[in-house]
Amino acid sequence: MWLDLKNKYFTQAMPVMSELVDKGFEAYFVGGCVRDLLLDDPIHDIDIATSARPEEIQAIFPSTIDVGAEHGTIIVLYQQQPYEITTFRTEGKYSDYRRPDSVEFVRDLKEDTLRRDFTINAMACDLDGKLYDYHGGFADLELGLIRAVGDPSARFQEDALRMMRAVRFASKLGFKIERATFSAIQSLSELITKIAIERIRIEMDKFLIGDYFFKTYLSLQETGLIVYLPGFSNPVAGQALADLAQDLKPMIENDMDRPLPLVWALLLGHLGLDTGACKKMLRAWTHSNQMISETLEIIEFLQEESRGQLNAWSIYQYSDLTVERCLSYLQVHGVDTHDYLTIWQNLPIKNRQEIVMDGRCLMAYLQMDQGGPIIGRLLQQVEKAIVQGELMNQEEAIKEFIDQYQD
Ligand code: ATP
Ligand code: MG
Repeated sequence: MWLDLKNKYFTQAMPVMSELVDKGFEAYFVGGCVRDLLLDDPIHDIDIATSARPEEIQAIFPSTIDVGAEHGTIIVLYQQQPYEITTFRTEGKYSDYRRPDSVEFVRDLKEDTLRRDFTINAMACDLDGKLYDYHGGFADLELGLIRAVGDPSARFQEDALRMMRAVRFASKLGFKIERATFSAIQSLSELITKIAIERIRIEMDKFLIGDYFFKTYLSLQETGLIVYLPGFSNPVAGQALADLAQDLKPMIENDMDRPLPLVWALLLGHLGLDTGACKKMLRAWTHSNQMISETLEIIEFLQEESRGQLNAWSIYQYSDLTVERCLSYLQVHGVDTHDYLTIWQNLPIKNRQEIVMDGRCLMAYLQMDQGGPIIGRLLQQVEKAIVQGELMNQEEAIKEFIDQYQD
């Protein structure tokens, strides 16, 4: 079978492949890009597999980044684009359910595909578009099946993360997990505890934002993986995922972005956790501080909205990003956001720096030599009055306001 490599990601990568082939090595597009091309799904990166060893790759290309030469992976920068190039390899024994004890470079594509996780991820194609499909990946694409390459139990015992990957590819593609692969996960699910949470999080995030999440969210429970995930041994976790699926469905149907802070905020909301517990859970999942603060802000915004407490002052205090994300979420759920939008768009100021008088001006006006808490408090009263439309952002008006406030 031949693939049409007209897509710009492939055409841009052609010279990289040609360089390798011209030097006498084999080179193939592999994994996700081949799968996504066959599915006519958007392609976001190109992975290349080659018979060239890492040092041979480095000798051919002037600009490379060594991201794991001992495992055979080099990033080549070509016309400002990064390409991950991996030497054909097999993996030695796995004694920790995570990483092979050793890898061995081989010169043959077929052997390399044996170490890949699922049949649909184990296809390759050459420069001319010829497809190499040693494990029935194309048939599984047509059947909509996630099937382990080789014996599923053995593959999950080698690397337990693959169990989470099965669930996330199901959510991304709307596929079913093939029966033997599924029962192997059910039997081995506890092994997921051997995997670093950072790696699980990457798959969990992709699972949650998958285009078919609302169809496949149950897989986390049915495979038994859910109880081993931080914060999900909670008896309401299954229901929380079901509720999240309902939240996300209209967003997916409307082809809307599902930013991770919003998705986690909704999920934590359904788990019924207070702010402290939300923070703890996000930390346990090793989310970044930025991600945590964006998520908590969204939780707070949505709670305030549901209590009918949103007003100019509260909307003003949220970041634009949070307001934007929450309003588009509420809108797609049929909430009338018109008034909120009007308030937000007509806020007299966007931040404290826009007030025409700053702390220094206030001190000068009050003939004070030193600042202190009183200036902070006064400034906040001024800010609040301006935001609520009770005070004009003009020097004279502010001075008058201060005179009255002091009386
Ligand atoms: P995505 O489009 O979501 O990035 P992908 O298929 O490119 O999907 P990656 O996680 O980027 O997924 O992995 C690239 C390829 O490497 C996979 O297609 C698969 O062939 C192989 N692979 C990645 N992780 C594993 C693993 N844990 N075990 C075996 N093979 C893996
Ligand atoms: Mg990828």
